[in-house]
Amino acid sequence: MTIAYEAVIGLEVHAQLATRSKIFCSSPTTFGADPNHNTCPVCLGLPGALPVLNQQVVAYAVKAALAFGGRVQATSIWARKNYFYPDLPKGYQISQYEEPYNLGGQVEFYHDGALKKINLTRIHMEEDAGKLVHGHSGSLVDLNRAGTPLVEIVSEPEIRSASEAAEYLRALRSVLRYIGVCDGNMEEGSLRCDANVSLRPVGTQTLGTRAEIKNINSFRYVEKAILYEIERQSAVLDAGGKVVQETRLWDSVKQETRSMRSKEEAHDYRYFPDPDLPPLVLEEAFIAGIRESLPELPIPRGKRFVALLDLPEYDALVLTAEKALADYFESVLSIFPQPKKVSNWIMTELLGYLNKQGLEITDCKVTAPNLARLLVLVEEGAISGKMAKDLFLDMLGTGEAPDAIVATKGLSQISDTGALETVIAAVMAASPAQLAQYRAGKDKLFGFFVGQVMKETKGQANPGLVNELLKKCLS
Ligand code: ADP
Ligand code: MG
Repeated sequence: MTIAYEAVIGLEVHAQLATRSKIFCSSPTTFGADPNHNTCPVCLGLPGALPVLNQQVVAYAVKAALAFGGRVQATSIWARKNYFYPDLPKGYQISQYEEPYNLGGQVEFYHDGALKKINLTRIHMEEDAGKLVHGHSGSLVDLNRAGTPLVEIVSEPEIRSASEAAEYLRALRSVLRYIGVCDGNMEEGSLRCDANVSLRPVGTQTLGTRAEIKNINSFRYVEKAILYEIERQSAVLDAGGKVVQETRLWDSVKQETRSMRSKEEAHDYRYFPDPDLPPLVLEEAFIAGIRESLPELPIPRGKRFVALLDLPEYDALVLTAEKALADYFESVLSIFPQPKKVSNWIMTELLGYLNKQGLEITDCKVTAPNLARLLVLVEEGAISGKMAKDLFLDMLGTGEAPDAIVATKGLSQISDTGALETVIAAVMAASPAQLAQYRAGKDKLFGFFVGQVMKETKGQANPGLVNELLKKCLS
């Protein structure tokens, strides 16, 4: 008999806060600097060097907590998490443990068309470790990343599938980017995820033993690693075995998770309050000030687009995923107030182009006023929809204003009735046989005449007007 299992998943996400300097010293956080260039006695862990807390780190961390609706704590405690590893010069990581700065909160996202809410257990601040670079002649250490500020966002074990986990992560990243506290660059390691996965028989409540898959750095891998892990654990359980509590790694080449080490327990770390740092005390006014600085977040913004602009939910979801994109949409809309038309242009023409080129909306050369102007030109009949699409490609490449391109290319649409009637008369005179057949009832030839007029005008004739005039002249 095979038992049906339910997957139970909890995610721990490490997000790098986008401050210019590290959490406890003034060393820069720039990515890609020469190895060990961004270091000082504090982040190198030299004897006698003391940590000084970066205020901006706290402000960003609190902003993140409030964006997720968390309960920011008036007092929190810095703790030393002791372990030995060559990339950790002090022999301990400064983190928060029993008293983190935030408890609770939620991540909201759409999954299978329904709004889903996953509760957060906690969020704490901590410093990142360095990096080992393994080469032929041995391993080298780069401490540029040591002391980089992180928040660790820990979810309750409420996620139920691999795809839900990926949507959770997308939503979390989107909010962090909206509020400007993390660039969300997963390739550079600014956002990493540990996935805790266990199984239990459907209908039971007790949690099964979990495996933790460490440091997954893409949405695709999160999904694949969890799917793999569910399969692996099902097979173990079906064979009458027990899942071992352990830490595993996702091998993206072999497309499998494999054991890294048995899972350490909290007591292995010998946590204790860091005597070098006083408790972190946050004033009510400081928290209130940050709360006021929060922008409208993606989910409420999407709901507003649906309710007030009458956009389909799908459009709202796409347009609000990135703040810069939603801002762009709204600024086009402020000049050309037809939401669905603007949305179509952005989702099809603009995003199609950007995706193909691997660009982001912030790289887009077409300003919002220029896109709005293009739509106005179409609306006024100055250019056709087809011409607008070609024009838009030019604009995307050059950043030029639509009017400038129209002028230099002589692109304007011919909407002059007299001029078009002259062309139609010439076309009719040049095709007497077709004219006779059309008049004898061969309606299909109407398209032939439209084509001839378009050819004569190099595609610049206003198609609606051509149709109207042809009907009149041919009959
Ligand atoms: P750590 O992994 O550092 O020991 P926690 O004990 O706080 O930290 O748990 C980390 C994550 O594991 C949380 O996201 C939590 O929801 C999840 N988790 C805990 N128990 C289980 C379980 N049995 N199955 C799946 N996830 C779990
Ligand atoms: Mg963990």
